[in-house]
Amino acid sequence: MRDKLRLLWKLEEIDDELQNKRAKLASLDDGSLLKQRVDNLREEVEKNRQEIRNMRREMEDKELEARGIEERRRSMERRMYGGLVTNPKELESMEKETEMLRRTQDRLEERVLELMYAIEDKNQQLRLIEEQLKSEEAEYEKLRQSYEVAYKELSECIAHLEKAREELLPQLDPYLLERYQEIREREGGGIAKVERGVCGGCGFSISPRILSRLREEDTIIYCENCGRILFMDE
Ligand SMILES: [Zn+2]
Repeated sequence: MRDKLRLLWKLEEIDDELQNKRAKLASLDDGSLLKQRVDNLREEVEKNRQEIRNMRREMEDKELEARGIEERRRSMERRMYGGLVTNPKELESMEKETEMLRRTQDRLEERVLELMYAIEDKNQQLRLIEEQLKSEEAEYEKLRQSYEVAYKELSECIAHLEKAREELLPQLDPYLLERYQEIREREGGGIAKVERGVCGGCGFSISPRILSRLREEDTIIYCENCGRILFMDE
């Protein structure tokens, strides 16, 4: 029985290690959250660049328009003050027209100025986002690299343990194995070592009666408290 239990104990060690490595593997941060943030920042950078392009285009259009109107106004002023137009009515309407053109030009130039400041602000904003993007990209790269390394290590370790488990199973007593699996599912462990009179699974003190049975009998003995198969390795 002791040899059978020793093999079963080996299985428990492998199963514990497997459980541990699988949990670690499952909790690894694969960087998908960070990746989402990087993608969002990239989108934001693109959006800002597009906005800047649009504002530049509008600014250039308005500048061109303002220059055109300025030219029209100046040529009208040249005619007005050139002495060729003498009709007062005509002069009056020309004056009104140049006044209107000046107002339009002023409005356009104001808009150009507005856009110039807005572009400046946007550019500043864009630089900040680009900086943030750069640092988050670097962080993501770093995280991905350590993830790949940890993933590979854990996967290899799990494969190795699974192979050891597979090799161990045929050596185990089928009845013991079945009990072990039942108890492990319920208790998180199927077999416990008894050390200094205490169950290594639940910490319960084993009664003297069970202790002497453990020493003397060649049967499966369970912890009275947690139900694990008891194993005295001495
Ligand atoms: Zn116990």
